[in-house]
Amino acid sequence: MRDILNFDRDELGSVLENEFNLPGYRAKQLIQWLYRYRVRSFEDMTNISKDLRNKLTEQFRIFRPELETVQVSRDGSRKFLFRMEDGSLIESVLIKQPTRFTLCISSQVGCAIACQFCRTGKMGLKRHLETREIIGQVLAVQDAIEELKTSENPPEQFQNIVFMGMGEPFHNLENVIRSVKLLNDEMGVNFSSRKITVSTSGLVPAIRQFGEAFAETGGANLAISLNATTDEVRTKVMPINKRWPLEELLGALKEFPLRSRKRITIEYVMLKGVNDSDADLDRLPKILKGIPVKINLIPYNDNSGLGFESSEESKVNRWQDVLLDQLWGPLYYRAL
Ligand code: SF4
Repeated sequence: MRDILNFDRDELGSVLENEFNLPGYRAKQLIQWLYRYRVRSFEDMTNISKDLRNKLTEQFRIFRPELETVQVSRDGSRKFLFRMEDGSLIESVLIKQPTRFTLCISSQVGCAIACQFCRTGKMGLKRHLETREIIGQVLAVQDAIEELKTSENPPEQFQNIVFMGMGEPFHNLENVIRSVKLLNDEMGVNFSSRKITVSTSGLVPAIRQFGEAFAETGGANLAISLNATTDEVRTKVMPINKRWPLEELLGALKEFPLRSRKRITIEYVMLKGVNDSDADLDRLPKILKGIPVKINLIPYNDNSGLGFESSEESKVNRWQDVLLDQLWGPLYYRAL
């Protein structure tokens, strides 16, 4: 039994043509039922012939991750813990922002990248998530929001999706590219490239492949978890820097095929006494020169005893002011 959520529209079109002797363009009907109407049974696809529905039911299934728990935080954000069929647990977080909700999804169970400031990094990599398990998070949270409609202080449907949960998305590139294609599909979830962001620790060959895959359509915004201005510090906090040091990473960003008026987001987690010196502040705009960026200064907020503390708020504010004063002032912003 194959899972239909593992196929993008082109792949479904090939299945229809090659296995069912039907025109490939009919795949758009399937995409509409699966992702716009979020049906859980082929029987509900009422404008599709009974014969095709029967064949699909025999050969395919429609996945949803099992919702284990939902934690609601004081600011109205919600953390969804999902159990996969092999028992693996992953998180998706519905983040409440001043004017909208953003959904943060996971791409792997655990992570191999071992960033020193990250709890997931301590788990090591258990496995990649399949496309159905990535996209399944989006559908399951949309379902949950729909069900909460009549509750007190219900969350609204999210308008942005970020690949910033558990895992390094570019380590699971094939499934992430297919998921982004499905999220972009205007017959289905219909999130434009401006509404999706994929964040990476800096896997240079995958950054290039991702850029090539979406050079025409945009696909998704790119974010880089930078977190240092020298190789010495970056290698200490993000060992992946040994494999792809700053010069190579920044070189790949300069060549990244950005569509007009788009920028790469530079994430900078501010770690007290580690990456927040005046020299870092001086270097940061210099090393990014020539790359269209916006910078996201992120106070560190993990209290899990990994040996890091957040920079003081006054310092984060000063960094923001100084960066805003730089030549590319309007390109900077800070999102907390
Ligand atoms: Fe954590 Fe992301 Fe680094 Fe993986 S890549 S260790 S999930 S911060």
